[in-house]
Amino acid sequence: MSDLIVPSEHDAFRQMVLAPDLLDIARRVEHVRRMQGGRRWYDELRPRLRVARKFLVEITDRTLPLVGQAERFLDDVERWVQRPEAPLPRMDRIRELAAATLREGLPPVPRTALDREARCHRLAARPWIGRTVWGCPLGWLPLIERAEEQLRRFGQNGDRLWHTYSMEERWGRLDWTTNLSYPEAHVIQCAVAASEVTCLACGNVGSLHKSEAWHLTLCDAHIFLEEHGPPEAIGKLAYPQRTGA
Ligand SMILES: [Zn+2]
Repeated sequence: MSDLIVPSEHDAFRQMVLAPDLLDIARRVEHVRRMQGGRRWYDELRPRLRVARKFLVEITDRTLPLVGQAERFLDDVERWVQRPEAPLPRMDRIRELAAATLREGLPPVPRTALDREARCHRLAARPWIGRTVWGCPLGWLPLIERAEEQLRRFGQNGDRLWHTYSMEERWGRLDWTTNLSYPEAHVIQCAVAASEVTCLACGNVGSLHKSEAWHLTLCDAHIFLEEHGPPEAIGKLAYPQRTGA
């Protein structure tokens, strides 16, 4: 991975790459706590801790906000994995910081249907993305743009062999399947993880909202609209049509 990013931007990027792992570890700790056991989830924590540690030690700027918190969090989880009677690691702060890190450096959300269209056309012109981009809701388009830019600038072997199979919302998160491998696949992984904390209708901070019919990641205002607004209201925001088009 260190080959992927020039040194000045390496730490910020490494910090972002660490975030999905931290969220995954927090999710597993929470699951084990709730299930009071869940042996498999528990066993799978150890290798994940090792991977997160590996990313963490490679960050040279120790003053980055997520770094200190991540060190403490991983220490706590390791202690708890070794001795389950140790206090449960605190997860609110690390979740909050990891989510904020995943949303760093995003371009603004499209303001109009026309703006979205123009920006989708730009992304669709990248052969490895193509028409799949039209499946991406408006609020998540900046996630794709950021990833595309990171890959264009820092990808190792050019994009000739890259391919996107699908890009769409599924069960509340971005389902972006590609043939990219590591290190480039990290960039895709960060976009997917960022979609779990980003409203698909407006791009603000969001969380998973489950109704009988749908699982959608929405901000508070759009959860309200989904529950009390007209049918299709969220769909019209996420996939706007130009009036008169
Ligand atoms: Zn929203």
